[in-house]
This record gives sequence, C-alpha cells and structure tokens, in this order.
Amino acid sequence: MFNKVLIANRGEIALRVQRACRELGIKTVAVFSEADADAKYVRLADEAVCIGPANSTDSYLNIPAIISAAEVTNAEAIHPGYGFLSENADFAERAEESGYVFIGPKPETIRLMGDKVSAKKEMIDAKVPVVRGSEGVLPDNQKNILSIADQLGYPVLLKAAGGGGGRGMRVVTREKDLISAVSLTRQEAQGAFGNGNLYMEKYLGNPRHIEVQVMADSDNNAVFLGDRDCSMQRRHQKVLEEAMAPLIPAPLKAMIGEKCVAACKRMGYVGAGTFEFLYENEQFYFIEMNTRLQVEHPVTEMITGGDLVKYQLKVAAGEILGINQKDIKYRGHALECRINAENPRSFRPSPGQITEWHVPGGPGIRVDSHVYSSCVIPPYYDSMIAKVISHGSDRGEAISRMKVALSEMIVEGIETNLDLHRSLLEDDAFVAGGTNIHYLEKKLAAGQ
Ligand code: ADP
Repeated sequence: MFNKVLIANRGEIALRVQRACRELGIKTVAVFSEADADAKYVRLADEAVCIGPANSTDSYLNIPAIISAAEVTNAEAIHPGYGFLSENADFAERAEESGYVFIGPKPETIRLMGDKVSAKKEMIDAKVPVVRGSEGVLPDNQKNILSIADQLGYPVLLKAAGGGGGRGMRVVTREKDLISAVSLTRQEAQGAFGNGNLYMEKYLGNPRHIEVQVMADSDNNAVFLGDRDCSMQRRHQKVLEEAMAPLIPAPLKAMIGEKCVAACKRMGYVGAGTFEFLYENEQFYFIEMNTRLQVEHPVTEMITGGDLVKYQLKVAAGEILGINQKDIKYRGHALECRINAENPRSFRPSPGQITEWHVPGGPGIRVDSHVYSSCVIPPYYDSMIAKVISHGSDRGEAISRMKVALSEMIVEGIETNLDLHRSLLEDDAFVAGGTNIHYLEKKLAAGQ
C-alpha cells in the first residue's frame, strides 16, 4: 500500500478520500487554493500545499502546480476525486510520467471513454446496448445528415463528441430545423470543447437515468456493485439519487451488470467506474461512462457495505480486488440528497458564511460534508455543501429516515435547497418510485 497520497481536489470529496487514507494508515497531502486555506480537510491532512489563487484554472486545474506539490511532499499517488482533473487523460499521463500513480484507469482508457463517439463504438463492440444513432461522427454532407435523422425518426438529439456536464446537446423535433441546428451545435461544441465533432441519437421521450457501478483491478478482475437511479435531475444535474433503482426486474439488472463487467474486462479497465444508461420500456441504452468515483457513490456503499475509495486505493496500489460477484450481497435501500448552497427559487449559488450548522444523525444516517459552523462557502466552485445519505431495510424506511434527518438539519447564513428535498420526499410520484428524468423540471415548472 502507498505511504502517502496527494488528494487533487477540494470540498467534501477531499475529506472523504482523506478519511479512507487515514483509515488505511496512509499519509495525506491536501492541495488547496487561496480561497480554501481555512478548510477543515486542509488542517486535518498530514501536509498541505497551496497551489494557487481561487480561480480553479489557476489552482485545482493547474497540472504543473499539482505535480510540483507531489514532488515537494514525496507523495506516491494522486487521487483526483470527481470533477476538476479526474477525467483528464493528459493529467493522468503527466502524473504517471512524473513517477506518480494516478488513482484511476489508464490514460488511454480515460481518452477512449472521454470521447463519446469512441466510447459508444467501444460499447457496441462489447455488446452493451446503446441508443440508436449515427454510426460515428456526423458527416459534413447535408443530404447524409438528413437521411440519418430520417432513419432514426424525429425527435433526434445532436450531441458533441467532446461534450460533458449536460452541455453540447440539442433536441431537434422537425426536419426543417435540422441543418441549422447542426451548424449551431457544431459551432458551440468547437467553442466549448475545442472539438466540433457531433453525433446524432434518437431522442428518448421518458427515460429514467440508471447507472451501474463497477470496480476492476489490474489483474483483469471486475465486478459490478449494483445500480443507482439518478433520474431526479434539474438541467441534467442530479439532485437526489438512490440505490438500487426501484421497479426494474432483477434479471434485467443482472444482465446489464454482467455486460458492464464484460466491457471492463475487454478494455482492461482498472479502478472505479460508472456506466450510465437511459432506461425506457424495460430497455437499457448506454449514454456514457464516467472513469472516476462519482458524487453519489455513498448510496452504493450503504447497500453493499463496501468502501469504494478503499477499493480504489487498493487496486491502484496493484493489489487484487478480492471480491467475487457472487459474494456481493445487497442490503436494504439508500438515498442521497445533495444539499446545495443556492437560492431555492432561482437556483443561483448562495455563497457566504454559515452562521449555524446542525447536521442530523440517528440510525441509518450518514452526512458527507466538509462544512462547519462559521465557515465560508466561496463563490468560485460547485455549490454542493453536503450529501445527506439515508439507509433503511427497504425504500420506505430509507425515505422515512431521510425525512427525519432533513427535518433536523439546520443551515443558516446562506440559502439552501433543503426545502426542495423535503418536498420531494413527500411527493407521491417519488414515493411510488420510477419517475423519469423530466419529472423534477415539470414539477418545478408547475410550481408544486
Ligand atoms: P453529459 O456528459 O453532458 O452529462 P450525457 O450523455 O450523460 O451527457 O447525457 C446527459 C443527460 O442528457 C442524460 O442524463 C439525459 O437526461 C439526457 N440525454 C442524453 N441522451 C439522451 C437521449 N438519447 N434521449 C433523451 N435524453 C438524453
């Protein structure tokens, strides 16, 4: 196992990774921007290095500064967390060339899955079901573009090959809008991702977002750790997640899990990963793979009893995973509410000083947060301040426990989305389970 790991991230995930390291007796190096100098995890780390000013381009995305921090502290490995550089193949490569273990898959795997066109092709070759769409990148020829859409049937979705974070997508409902939509999306994609390549998919009307968690070691052992339902979204951002996904037949889940495992083995995947699918009419359709730990990983930990960060550290150190698929048992049900510092109506970030902070507890409650009373939420980064996770013997108990937890939670000084979560937990359709990806936006639009 490693002696010292550098954590190239901030916020709750920096603390989460640090906790796993400390449990394993690994020394930790925190890197921080000037805006995060007072963070709890910075003080708790064995060593801490300031890597630049508040703006993330100059700090958390500053590859030379992070590599230098690893050099001066003699770290052996770098954990990228999620977001920032976690899916940046160049960073993984630079880390490895400089002699550090990147805690994640190989740079070529990150590159393969980071381009949505090559990722989709890899999935087709691995026999993972995908959404029907163009074969590869859209051609320049207008007639060919029109004929691809014609074969798929409208509505279609234009997607940027290099897209991410819910950007670079456009729905086209009519043939007469297609060509202008293609040129607009191409321009936007070129500007935002430096890659004007587009592809086209059939637009699914009422899908759910279901994802499969995988873990693999460098000996080509791989398992899936159940699934999660992340359909409760606003602007393609997940708000509330659960494990496992309700109301999906068990044999279908096993089938898709096994296909994900086979795909991992085929590409020599190492580490934690998530296969994201749309699910409609009892069919799974691959949309993308995330080659990193995800925000919502705790719900999987609650139902499997495993620690995904410890598994990541273990396989990155070259140890074998040591878990067989048949030994993975699922216990009960778990929910995660993402608590954001934001205005409850406009959803604009609400940074500032937290004057009062009271987190809930009790049976089956876990709160992952780096926040404390009197701390300041800086305006420069993601607005998530905490994840409240509940676990129960079944979905009903997980919901009841979450309701009690959120009724106890107090955050003052800034605005939060706590009330949105409280109302979702009372929502009949949510309680019934299986709502689709448009449900939350429709509910918000209806002012409910
Ligand atoms: P990103 O990398 O930007 O998150 P994804 O490919 O994961 O992009 O898609 C993000 C979201 O867009 C999905 O969770 C879903 O809500 C919607 N989406 C993606 N593909 C389709 C599709 N073919 N039909 C309908 N909705 C889609």
